[in-house]
Amino acid sequence: MMSPVVIPSIDELLGLRGTHVARLDPEASIGEVSLHPAAAAAIMSLRAEGSRAGLDLRVVSGYRSFARQLQIWNGKARGERTLLDDAENELDATALAPDALVLAILRWSALPGASRHHWGSDFDVVDAAAMPPGVSPGLRVAEYEEGGMFARLGCWLELGLREGTMHGFFRPYQGLGAGVAGEPWHLSYAPVAAYCEAALDVARLRELLAGSGLVLWDAVETSLELLLQRFSLLGADSYPLAFRPLFDRRGSA
Ligand SMILES: [Zn+2]
Repeated sequence: MMSPVVIPSIDELLGLRGTHVARLDPEASIGEVSLHPAAAAAIMSLRAEGSRAGLDLRVVSGYRSFARQLQIWNGKARGERTLLDDAENELDATALAPDALVLAILRWSALPGASRHHWGSDFDVVDAAAMPPGVSPGLRVAEYEEGGMFARLGCWLELGLREGTMHGFFRPYQGLGAGVAGEPWHLSYAPVAAYCEAALDVARLRELLAGSGLVLWDAVETSLELLLQRFSLLGADSYPLAFRPLFDRRGSA
């Protein structure tokens, strides 16, 4: 069953306000997580199904503010946070030219203001039943593949997504094409996300980023539209069929 969807405002979509999200049931998360209520209701249904398959589905990262995403971005740009290449090997940020560094950051982290985590529709998921005590998830691809601690979860999600039994969830980052790397842990709630993506206001984002203290802004500014096309705006075709018309209603895509 789907809850009625309240569409986030422009400021909420940019991560400037968190008024469209609410705290998720602590049993369904690790740490404090907030999500759009419609996505939260759907995750509870998914959790119930997962538990019948022996999984303990937990959200580890949901809504993220612009300020938080800016901190992540600037940390990677300054070489203070771990920066990984496609194969999850560490990169030396200080050895990269600005344009290359921008692309490297975007491979795993969104531009502040353009993160799907601002929307409250998107989150990262793990299986707490598979985590040995004292081990925290690294959100690495290998964890979700055969032999990894979340391999069962990865398989279960894959199957559900293929059969279309996922309550409106889908994986936006499949690692296809040249943009963002595949993120098997990242799920998106299409009934909310499709509206959010269609409503992204590029002019407003440009204005916001220009005055935000974003490291590498000069390199981002010249190719902002292109970068958004490649890394943030996945387009209607990446959504489950049933939710593609939500894009048309906003007149874009
Ligand atoms: Zn994510």
